[in-house]
Amino acid sequence: MKRLLVLSGDGIGPEVMAQVMRVIDWMARKGRVQFDVSEGLIGGCSCDVHGVSLTDDTLAEAMAADAVLLGAVGGPRWDGLSFDKKPEQGLLRLRKAMDLFANLRPAIVFDALADAATLKLDVVKGLDLMIVRELTGGVYFGKPRGIDILSDGNRIGINTHSYSTNEIVRVARIAFDLSLKRNRKVSSVDKANVMEAGALWREEVTRIWNEEYKDKGVELSHMYADNCAMQLVRAPKQFDVIVTDNLFGDLLSDCAATLTGSLGMLPSASLGMPPEEGRRRRALYEPAHGSAPDIAGKDIANPLATLLSFAMMLRYSFDQPSDADLIERAVQRVLSGGLRTADIMQPNKAKVSTTVMGDVILRELDKLT
Ligand code: NAD
Repeated sequence: MKRLLVLSGDGIGPEVMAQVMRVIDWMARKGRVQFDVSEGLIGGCSCDVHGVSLTDDTLAEAMAADAVLLGAVGGPRWDGLSFDKKPEQGLLRLRKAMDLFANLRPAIVFDALADAATLKLDVVKGLDLMIVRELTGGVYFGKPRGIDILSDGNRIGINTHSYSTNEIVRVARIAFDLSLKRNRKVSSVDKANVMEAGALWREEVTRIWNEEYKDKGVELSHMYADNCAMQLVRAPKQFDVIVTDNLFGDLLSDCAATLTGSLGMLPSASLGMPPEEGRRRRALYEPAHGSAPDIAGKDIANPLATLLSFAMMLRYSFDQPSDADLIERAVQRVLSGGLRTADIMQPNKAKVSTTVMGDVILRELDKLT
């Protein structure tokens, strides 16, 4: 049995997750995939009950699960808490304990939404790329760091951008393995021209490609990060899988996200170390959006980012691409049929609630099977 821990969190988290739970039930009823689902608290709701945003017990459950599906955390209700008690701390602790070093952010433009993008239709129509961002290393974590005072009284802010061979190699392998399930094309992005860590990044990615993936037909190209930013808005369809470090990945994945339209449509996955005996690769799936307190409790949030995160789970944690495809096709068909939640509403389309979006997804799943 596949052990799934569901952490709905705060704000719209429980509302969007409720629709995904209906799809999980549907999958079980149809005999497609059966999960042993347990639910836990994270974020503000956990602070309210336990006084901390993630308890040791919930963390232990996450470590024992085959996958974790998360809604969102945070909201103004908890803004007054001290920094170590804030809802976001629970999520940071979870990601750190699970050692999730690779963040996968797909940027997919659904045909039905292509004309809502900010770029010209022919630039984004059919876009389907994946950014793999290194998540636990680089300048956000490197040491030394801090703010010092120089002998002349000037203050100096210090952060260190460093990458070890191991850190580069493990995320590169994730990108290359992903490309084997896609178009076998990887673009590695760095600043090898001006940074030693970038030069090492390029060397190591090339070495792993030569040793393990070249013979499998994977194409590798390298690009400087500034050029990549430009290419993403000029001709994004040239990319299939982009692999890059923490800092550049942070910027480039948001840039790619804006190509697709709404936050409510963007899933993500974060992966940890490869499987060991008796244990799958640790993995956390969550929408890219936050808890959207401005619309929470109104049944108007878009549940599709969380649903598409669940589809990613089927694909990457459980190797069930046909079930993932099925969900993605149901989403396509609902959108092509003209139904929209408020965030992706367009002229002459029908606005539906969170719950009705769940209803019509189930209806399409029934029709497709
Ligand atoms: P947000 O993503 O919650 O919301 C930004 C805007 O997008 C809002 O107008 C919101 O209504 C809209 N939106 C987001 N998701 C939507 C959906 N599924 N359907 C329809 N509209 C949607 O970002 P924010 O407002 O900057 O942050 C709100 C809270 O969420 C904060 O407490 C923040 O710390 C937290 N947050 C959590 C996560 C996470 O859990 N991973 C990520 C980002 C922000």
